[in-house]
Amino acid sequence: MRKRTLRGLDLDVLEGRRALVRVDYNVPLDEDGTVRDATRIDATLPTLRHLLEAGARPVLMSHLGRPGGKAVPELSLRPVASELEKRIGVPVHFCSDITSDGALDASDNLPAGEILLLENTRFHAGERENDPSFAAALARLGDLYVNDAFGSTHRAHASVVGVPDRLRPAVAGLLVEDELAALSRLRASAERPFVVAFGGAKIGDKLPLVELFLDRADTLLIGGALANTFLAASGYETGESLVEDEALPVARDLLDRPGIELRLPVDLVVGPADGEADETRVVAADRIPAELAAFDIGPKTRDEFADAIESAATVFWNGPMGWFENPAYADGTRTLAAAAARAAEHGAFSVIGGGDSARAVHEAGLEDRVSHVSTGGGASLEYLAHGSLPGLEALEDA
Ligand code: ADP
Ligand code: MG
Repeated sequence: MRKRTLRGLDLDVLEGRRALVRVDYNVPLDEDGTVRDATRIDATLPTLRHLLEAGARPVLMSHLGRPGGKAVPELSLRPVASELEKRIGVPVHFCSDITSDGALDASDNLPAGEILLLENTRFHAGERENDPSFAAALARLGDLYVNDAFGSTHRAHASVVGVPDRLRPAVAGLLVEDELAALSRLRASAERPFVVAFGGAKIGDKLPLVELFLDRADTLLIGGALANTFLAASGYETGESLVEDEALPVARDLLDRPGIELRLPVDLVVGPADGEADETRVVAADRIPAELAAFDIGPKTRDEFADAIESAATVFWNGPMGWFENPAYADGTRTLAAAAARAAEHGAFSVIGGGDSARAVHEAGLEDRVSHVSTGGGASLEYLAHGSLPGLEALEDA
């Protein structure tokens, strides 16, 4: 899917014009309202700097959390305005009533070299409903549209789909362009051996992808709670482990496919289901005690999975190998992150997608050592599965 990009626009198209930019500032906030992790803000800085340097006037819209169509003060984007101002070093104004004439004045009168951030679009029910009058109210705040919110591009919401339908040019920002370059390489032209690792807990979301990669990947490694579901589907006792019962028939069907290398853990770290992690132990995958839960892949599995990843030419990894937020169960996930970084050092193309997986790689300090970390969880999976996203469809063709 070839879309018009911000990088491809002539600078004179940008100069002096209001660029209405959809960003993904759905950042975690501390109780006192300060931004705890600014990764998503930083990810948009290249696009914002590009716009400012070209003399465009950026007007930013984003959602934050799930306020359910009404104003929820704790989910205000106001703290994000000050955080962005610190990071980009130019004045960032804030507008709370985004459908009012005041918002129109604020965008019209925005000085060159400064930024306007609009309040949480999900304070309005029209955002999720892609309501035409809400989309039109937003569209009048810009002269052109830029999508730099890769993590929201799978949502057919007003700020993602309705607004670009009303503005031209409507282009992909630098972050979105980057994401598409990495993910389309995985879809279309992955060099072999291609090793794919899946884990995490959103089992229903991931099974279709396991299926998608069955014929494309040379080896599929399965860990995390996803592996528990496959172990249960193989007829093993899984004790108190997290297993998704509705997914069992699909998992059984995938295991029965001939000629597929789908690797499940051979050993696991187990502990009490209540999370009291001082009693952890390693067991063989077919020996999970009935009263315990599997929370991480075991040391043999870690070695095997790491070897597979390090000998790959292309790596895609989505979903933590265990309950990594608990240090007692973080080794599997850390081992895979390190293996993905080493693979990249050997010249492999290694990509990590998924919100929690991206956080694990960030916490391990390995973000810059892999080829690409996708900022979008659901969006990256949906793009890999379908090769398109609603918010991309809404942009102009190249
Ligand atoms: P991502 O956001 O990377 O796509 P998911 O949202 O699917 O990943 O899953 C991440 C969550 O899965 C993490 O919170 C992690 O603690 C949990 N998880 C992984 N393995 C297990 C397990 N064996 N048991 C319980 N939770 C697990
Ligand atoms: Mg997640």
